[in-house]
Amino acid sequence: MNNFYVRRITMGIVVGLISGLISTFLADLLIGGTIITLLGGNTQPIVSLGIHLLFSALLGVGFSLVSSLKANVGDQIMNGLVYAAGQWAVVILVVIPVLNGQAPQWQPPEVILRFPALIVYLGQGVLLALGCYWIFKLADRWYGIIATEIDDIPEEGIKQRVVVLGGGFGGVTTAQQLEGLLGDDLSVHITLVSQTNHLLFTPMLAEVTAGGVEAQHISPPLRTFFRHVRVIRGEPAAINIAQNTVIIKSGTGVARILPYDHLVLAVGAVPNFFGNKNIEANAFTFKSLSDAIHIRNHVIDLLERADNEPNPIRRKALLTFVVVGAGFAGSELIGGLNDFVRGSLWYYKHLHNDEVSLILVHPGEQILPELSTKLAQYAETKMIARGVSIRGKARVTDAGQGTVTIGDEILSAETLIWTAGNLPNPVIRDIGCETDKRGAVITDDKLRVNGQLNVWGIGDCASIPDVVTGKNAPPTAQYALREAKTLAYNLHAVIHNRPPKQFRHHSQGALAVVGHQTACAEVFGMQFSGLFAWLLWRGIYLSKLPTLEKKVRVLLDWVIDVFFPRDIAYAPVVESDMTVEEVLIVGEAS
Ligand SMILES: Cc1cc2nc3c(=O)[nH]c(=O)nc-3n(C[C@H](O)[C@H](O)[C@H](O)COP(=O)(O)OP(=O)(O)OC[C@H]3O[C@@H](n4cnc5c(N)ncnc54)[C@H](O)[C@@H]3O)c2cc1C
Repeated sequence: MNNFYVRRITMGIVVGLISGLISTFLADLLIGGTIITLLGGNTQPIVSLGIHLLFSALLGVGFSLVSSLKANVGDQIMNGLVYAAGQWAVVILVVIPVLNGQAPQWQPPEVILRFPALIVYLGQGVLLALGCYWIFKLADRWYGIIATEIDDIPEEGIKQRVVVLGGGFGGVTTAQQLEGLLGDDLSVHITLVSQTNHLLFTPMLAEVTAGGVEAQHISPPLRTFFRHVRVIRGEPAAINIAQNTVIIKSGTGVARILPYDHLVLAVGAVPNFFGNKNIEANAFTFKSLSDAIHIRNHVIDLLERADNEPNPIRRKALLTFVVVGAGFAGSELIGGLNDFVRGSLWYYKHLHNDEVSLILVHPGEQILPELSTKLAQYAETKMIARGVSIRGKARVTDAGQGTVTIGDEILSAETLIWTAGNLPNPVIRDIGCETDKRGAVITDDKLRVNGQLNVWGIGDCASIPDVVTGKNAPPTAQYALREAKTLAYNLHAVIHNRPPKQFRHHSQGALAVVGHQTACAEVFGMQFSGLFAWLLWRGIYLSKLPTLEKKVRVLLDWVIDVFFPRDIAYAPVVESDMTVEEVLIVGEAS
């Protein structure tokens, strides 16, 4: 009885048979007549009762397997009623007539004839619900709890605790893969702590700003990824690697201590302004869902204001948008913004296309340095043809309210978006692990942080040797995902006293959208550009977007985008950062 399914099936059969017997007995007493033959569909009452009890046992097993221990009595009874009504429709109207060589009996007169059986089934549903409710509790008391969700596990059942910090590509994939490798072994308790309660699918973030995709559609909730992993929306107030604990603040007003046997650092990166406070104070960043929505609302606000601005110089400043940094984030953002702003002018009758300026500033020789020179040049040519100005080998050196300084030139612009640099998340900087000069934890090729036995690092916050190229693994989603898979394997191996393996990944290429139906792609050494690359981009990223539901929603967004103009209503603002200060430290979080 220590196996979940054995226990639930046994109890389901017992409760199903008992509730079937009692309800039939009561029905025979109260309704009498042909009720027993109606229930089993046989003219001989004893055979009919046998058939009915068989279905009652099946009803019990099904209900027992699907019912939750956490439901209260009222919910459980409602579930029992709904479940029994469904079973009546299937068994009495379809299965029994078919077994007797008849057609399903679902015409109104036939259904009315079988209503007495529905009353029996509903009574049985109530008995079944109550029976299961109490027998589950008794069984837990007699035989001990079988953990189905991690919170049910008593402290002594946990042999190892893995704490994953960060709910991005690296953290989520590590927890998900490790959970898969562990199967039903719940003695390893995984906790994932993340500042946001969703995974952000960053490759589609520019589409949110450009209004092509709804924000929630690229941000599947973390809790939908796991069966047993405990998810805490929170952030570490302190990481104590000497004591193997993390103090978590989670917005409850009370900080908690989370002990661990293995700690995974996957907290990503933060924008780097290279110490320029003016730029930091006046620029938008472009890393989170709230960044994307704030930029979008800001752009719509500027269009509204510009439409009512009689002064052409002021109007020009309102319609000048400067994006700094020409990696994936900056290039895709300016391409999307260009489409959005120019495509929305149709609504703003006082604005003209030639008043709009979108400027991409970058210090390098070419935009999209992740791509080959040929593809980057293609992207640049396309962007320029669509109205984007590209200032290469240039730097934004200062910014103020309504001004942006590029080199020595001071430009009037109400929008500055900074994508020019990232730093490993500072939350891991002073925890006592070896870091490089940017603040990334340095790992070995097995992803273990140098000098630590049980601290691991992946993704944008880690400096990881890439044995394939001899350099460091690049800070991309593609690498974070592969690192996470290796890390899950290694955690599973180490927990089971097996050796960890080396991280090794051959880049599959890179893809970037540079504007309406235009992309550049380098996949497995082959180069594509234009519409085909754009379709490839959409196909590949749609397939990688987690959860079927989000895939369908994004697909619908794309279809709608083909037929309708972009929406210029303000989007609801989301605040993803933690806001509540914790005051106390109590006990250990289970
Ligand atoms: C706009 C944009 C577009 C991009 N496009 C591409 C692309 O097309 N292809 C590609 O390969 N890469 C792309 N990238 C890069 C890619 O997103 C990152 O390399 C990848 O997300 C790194 O994964 P990660 O798990 O290390 O960090 P992230 O995915 O950033 O996850 C970090 C997680 O840590 C959480 N966190 C942060 N601070 C704390 C804290 N103090 N406490 C708890 N949790 C915390 C965050 O909420 C987040 O869940 C893009 C990035 C951006 C910003």
